[in-house]
Amino acid sequence: MAARQCRSSLPVPRGPARMRPRLLACLLLLPSAAPLVTAWAQPPAAAAAGPRLDRAWVTRAVEAPRVAHRTFQSTAAKTAVSYHLYTPAAYDREPGRRFPVVYWLHGSGGGLPGIPQLARRFDAAIEAGRIPPVLVVMVNGLDMGMYVDWRDGSAPVETVLARDLVDHVDATYRTVPTREGRILDGFSMGGYGAARLGFKFPARFRTVSIMGAGPMQEELAATPRATPAQAQLLLQQVYGGDQAYFRAVSPRRLAEEQAAALAAGSLIRVVVGDQDETYRNNVAFHEHLQRLGIPHQWRVLPGVRHNPNAVLDALGDDHWAFYRSALAPAAAPPAVSPPASPAADSVIKLTFLGTGAPRPSRDRHGPAILVEAGRRTLLIDAGPGVRQRLFEAGGFALLTGVTDIFATHLHYDHVGGVADLWIPGWMYGRSTPLRVFGPPGTEEFTAGLRQAYRWDVAYRQIVGITAPGSVLEAREVRPGVVFHEDGVKVTAFPVAHMPIDPATGRPGALDGATYGFRVDYAGRSVAFSGDLRVGPASELVTQGRGADVVVMEVQVPSPGNSAEAQRANVSLSVHTSPEEAGRAFALMRPRLAVYSHIIPPQTTADELRAATRPFYDGPLVTAFDLMTLTIGRHLEVGMAPRRDGELFEQSGAVKR
Ligand SMILES: [Zn+2]
Ligand SMILES: [Zn+2]
Repeated sequence: MAARQCRSSLPVPRGPARMRPRLLACLLLLPSAAPLVTAWAQPPAAAAAGPRLDRAWVTRAVEAPRVAHRTFQSTAAKTAVSYHLYTPAAYDREPGRRFPVVYWLHGSGGGLPGIPQLARRFDAAIEAGRIPPVLVVMVNGLDMGMYVDWRDGSAPVETVLARDLVDHVDATYRTVPTREGRILDGFSMGGYGAARLGFKFPARFRTVSIMGAGPMQEELAATPRATPAQAQLLLQQVYGGDQAYFRAVSPRRLAEEQAAALAAGSLIRVVVGDQDETYRNNVAFHEHLQRLGIPHQWRVLPGVRHNPNAVLDALGDDHWAFYRSALAPAAAPPAVSPPASPAADSVIKLTFLGTGAPRPSRDRHGPAILVEAGRRTLLIDAGPGVRQRLFEAGGFALLTGVTDIFATHLHYDHVGGVADLWIPGWMYGRSTPLRVFGPPGTEEFTAGLRQAYRWDVAYRQIVGITAPGSVLEAREVRPGVVFHEDGVKVTAFPVAHMPIDPATGRPGALDGATYGFRVDYAGRSVAFSGDLRVGPASELVTQGRGADVVVMEVQVPSPGNSAEAQRANVSLSVHTSPEEAGRAFALMRPRLAVYSHIIPPQTTADELRAATRPFYDGPLVTAFDLMTLTIGRHLEVGMAPRRDGELFEQSGAVKR
């Protein structure tokens, strides 16, 4: 291979790096010669007496607008690891907003010189409104790391990136911390890496873009763009000289192992130029995916060589169209405003307004979940914070548009926001009564509120706010179908949440009931656990079987023996641990299991997942405030727009 072929076609900073031997850069897998985004120059050094692949976990910093060089402590690497982060202007402008994350995987050589251009491409697309704002993490996967945990343990690149880096990014920045909020993209070795990580961890990454990828062949011997000796070197150091290991970690094998999960819920594309040396291997890979029944976009670019800029230029807006479809579920879906449009008729859409419980939390308000189905908009519970969150999710239209609350029970964290919805909803435009459906005791509860706010309501009526919207009605319901309007059916069922006397371990003396609800609409269904301690014989398990989605409360036991831990753990007798939830999910097998009503509110999604996994291995997400979930032919997790500045005078909310 001529040295010239291995040079980047992009301008590369002058300096010592330019003078390093190019042997390894020209190395096999396609990349090397690739200019730019991926393989841009910056070849790893190779000593004359036996080259050794580079293992520099912290790279130099590249300067570019809106790009920062950062490091984090990786457990797997046992050291600091660097990355570059692009943040869009909206990240600074909208401090209450969360952003999807693109993980960009470079080609061989480390990709540093291509970072400014890559960031510029994203920034231009975002500023032009072609894609919603995203964070772009430009990883350090080592010059020739292959995005694999090296066989000899010396460089756990896969674990550093797919586990440690993603956890760090979600813990450090305002991300959409779900699979829908993560995109893997890369070219050349980075395309191979995107396929590897995306196919191995479909629960972490929904979207996988595989461009000009290599090595995609079955054996790492003869390989495009490298001599057999070069391929041998890589095989030796990364894969331990073991073709079986190369095959075991290959995208081909991972596709076989994860075919069902990938087919069910991943967005995948494979792109390659027909003049790319990797073309044939990518055709074979595409056919492999077809045989496995894994849906994917397949794009061949005529006349395009192994060059990421040429690939992106040839894709044009198709590149961003793919990003738009990838980001649709994660980034700011359109406003939630009742009544839902006819196009939404065959889906149920949930907006998690509050995912906490009684403990105060900035991030998790009291339990309240908005349900939009066809022409109906309902609330399951109305905990503290519901007024603020409804406004953020849909402005005055939503605050005034909700007319029906389904209270699972009368605990303050579930009904503390009823007055907060009742009076402002009326003040700002609701002209019909607010109805509260709930267990026995609901009439007494609403009568108490009416009494408490008698003066306020009388006052506002005198100054001319129309009366019908000031009515607060109670509908005490028994288990069974409690609501059936416009095709939306709500079924109440009893759950085990009545108090247990700690002294006797027996039910305490208290009237009333606590419910879960199931909502059915147009063949879609979702079961809400309410508060309960679940068991295999729970009515929730019966109602949740066959439901698309089960929304479950959860309480993680508090460690230690302090007075506070003891008080917190008293409620374990009426709440559900991750283990109990996992066992119940395993019996119900919903298309998606969701945690909400999370105790303590600081519990992370990863902690809940880890605690649940031994008992349930199906799809699971931990809801966050303002997360949306659209239940249709596909399940889509997203994020409400979180508007907070709508002027009432411009809202058009008042119904006459
Ligand atoms: Zn509760
Ligand atoms: Zn409760």
